[in-house]
Amino acid sequence: MSSNNTQNILEVRDLLVYYENAIAINNVSLKCRKGKITGIFGANSAGKSTLMHTISGLIMDMRDKEKKKGGERITWFGEINYNGENITNMKPSDRARKGLILSPERRQVFPESSTMENIKIGGYLATREQAKKTMDYVFKLFPELINLKHREAGFLSGGEQQMLAIGRALMAQPKLLLLDEPLLGLAPSIETRLAQAIKAINTETGVTVVLSEQYARPVFPIIDYGYVLENGSIVLEGSGEELMNNPDVLGAYFGM
Ligand code: ATP
Repeated sequence: MSSNNTQNILEVRDLLVYYENAIAINNVSLKCRKGKITGIFGANSAGKSTLMHTISGLIMDMRDKEKKKGGERITWFGEINYNGENITNMKPSDRARKGLILSPERRQVFPESSTMENIKIGGYLATREQAKKTMDYVFKLFPELINLKHREAGFLSGGEQQMLAIGRALMAQPKLLLLDEPLLGLAPSIETRLAQAIKAINTETGVTVVLSEQYARPVFPIIDYGYVLENGSIVLEGSGEELMNNPDVLGAYFGM
């Protein structure tokens, strides 16, 4: 496929990321089709968050912060293309303005702000009309949040906080939504509920989704294509069904 194929909203090429001398992402190349859901699977420390931070550009902020502190040196090589544009060294805020939005690991809602305030904060890139429309959509998608509008986000359950984090990310008008371990630490029934909501977002709004997960069972059925990361390298890729039926995946994830 040619490199500027518009079918691929995202193309990562030969990506290497180092924390000082330790390699966290080792020569990763992947493609994400527009309008689809791509999964990135891997155990603890496989490199999922590092990959998400490099795609969203947050790694630039992390690098600058470390530099100021005189801490470790964070470096990366390779290329990230978004909608055919090389964004490898583009500021995260500019990426966000182009619709590349990350919902970070562990949700990171503002605990002392209310549900409603958290949602409104997400709308900083939206027009008034977009914000109104998206807010209506978020409460339709997650009616659980309607009666919690004025509750401090820190008092919501893990599942409700995750709904809020996704809602907040939607308010930023994503074209490509990066979800870093959205099911982390949630009860199985909530995992299924959220996996279905992610699928609904994708089909109802057409937003492209890239999501990372460790424990992938509820996620395999909703992905169109997935990659398995091990020690920073891609060791396996395929459709959700192919991955779900792969003996290595069965062994690694389900102990079979
Ligand atoms: P988890 O599921 O635990 O979040 P992950 O798949 O997201 O894991 P990363 O957090 O990307 O993995 O970590 C990849 C590797 O990089 C690990 O070896 C980790 O210890 C290391 N690492 C991550 N962040 C830093 C950092 N700021 N400084 C040094 N090493 C780091």
